[in-house]
Amino acid sequence: ASLFQQIEEAQPDAIFHLSALWRNDPDSRKVNLGIGAYRDDDGKPWVLPVVRKAETIIYNDPNLNHEYLSITGMPEFREAAARLILGADNPAIGEKRIVAVQTISGTGAVHTAAAFLSRFYRKDVPVLISNPTWINHKLIFKGVGIDIVEYPYWNPHTKGLEIDGMLKALEDAKPGSIVLLHACAHNPTGVDPTQEQWKQIADVCEAKTHFPFFDCAYQGFASGDLDRDAWAVRYFVERGFETLVAQSFSKNFGLYCQRTGCLTVVLNNASVAKKVESQMAIIQRSEISNPPAHGARIVNIVLHDPELYNEWVQNLKTMSSRIQEMRQRLYNKLIELKTPGTWNHIVDQIGMFSFTGLKGKQVQVLKEKYHVYLTDNGRISMAGLSSKNVDYFAKAVDDVVR
Ligand code: PMP
Repeated sequence: ASLFQQIEEAQPDAIFHLSALWRNDPDSRKVNLGIGAYRDDDGKPWVLPVVRKAETIIYNDPNLNHEYLSITGMPEFREAAARLILGADNPAIGEKRIVAVQTISGTGAVHTAAAFLSRFYRKDVPVLISNPTWINHKLIFKGVGIDIVEYPYWNPHTKGLEIDGMLKALEDAKPGSIVLLHACAHNPTGVDPTQEQWKQIADVCEAKTHFPFFDCAYQGFASGDLDRDAWAVRYFVERGFETLVAQSFSKNFGLYCQRTGCLTVVLNNASVAKKVESQMAIIQRSEISNPPAHGARIVNIVLHDPELYNEWVQNLKTMSSRIQEMRQRLYNKLIELKTPGTWNHIVDQIGMFSFTGLKGKQVQVLKEKYHVYLTDNGRISMAGLSSKNVDYFAKAVDDVVR
């Protein structure tokens, strides 16, 4: 018998499993609304034109080599990433109260943050995460041994934010708890607090001395406006919170497989920055040694060149407006079909995902009868819809809810 005979087989990852089912489905009408990756109106992956330009610059550089980056990553990239999320003129940057570490995309940033907190933050408090949240949040915090407590987030009746329940849970939590917040375009619900609600959340966090940790996977991709999508993070920093911010460039640069991300720590005084950075370097060294270069080079070139930057902003608008258009068309079609129920949430929600309110059984029928693949919680990736399949999907939804 093997030394590992006792191992139980784990469930496959729900999202990647869905993609496999979709790939193997021979039906020509099949639709993949599982994975959160942008598709153009032909259902194809889209390499941002600005990314192609940056790649040309990279490959034409006669000095290009493949030496290791430093342990905490490419300095110019990290600096640009921090400026992007915090705002270029954020005093925290000028006062050198920040530390930015290049990570293995957003997942790596969340993990590095969790590893850092498990070593250097108090051990007697949990992390508070929204119910529901991105599945990896639980896996990552469990992995570093931090207790997880959920706060209410989604209200199934209003199909919107359960703000009272959320505030009460934050209020009732142990003082000093870590509060994990989605900076924008909450995954999986697509529901974000309003600015007024963010203020209430900040008030409770301040009163209870909670530690806010922002996961920002969709800056610019959500609304098409980089500043608007960074508003909550900047607001907390302006109010004087110390915080961690995990950034992903998977969606807003379409660099999914290049694993390009950054973790920024905002501190309330510069004297700890060097110490924090040195400990981040130890964590990074033991886990990945040093981060990969290609995606960081692309982002670095674009963020430092005003012309390319403007082109990137246009590319972001292309993606976010196509998604907003799909929301509108889906909504219009459901209204036209007089599909039972209310559907405003489809257009009110923001970002890659929509939490439709469809139930597990309905999702099952969508899969079996219509070859439409989505997660059991009723979440759809708007990017999987196009002018070619949105009516088909609306009719299928109409059928399963009747
Ligand atoms: N956080 C959230 C909430 C996400 O939705 C995602 C992307 N699915 C990520 C982090 C990070 O993804 P990646 O590691 O691909 O950047």
